[in-house]
Amino acid sequence: MFFISIKKTVGTLGSKHKCTICSKEISIYYNPMEGWGLEGVLCGDCYSKKISDYYPGDHAQISKK
Ligand SMILES: [Zn+2]
Repeated sequence: MFFISIKKTVGTLGSKHKCTICSKEISIYYNPMEGWGLEGVLCGDCYSKKISDYYPGDHAQISKK
């Protein structure tokens, strides 16, 4: 078992980002991990999905609001 550290990056004021997967506009975005082959940023939902895709059964802890 290993611990996955979630790096959360908060967007700067006034700048909108779009999720690279679902194209949703997001104000709080997540940087994809190396190895995912993604450019851009992810919304929390897609990030969670990616985490569980890549680390099935592990304890990915992502706080949802
Ligand atoms: Zn998304």
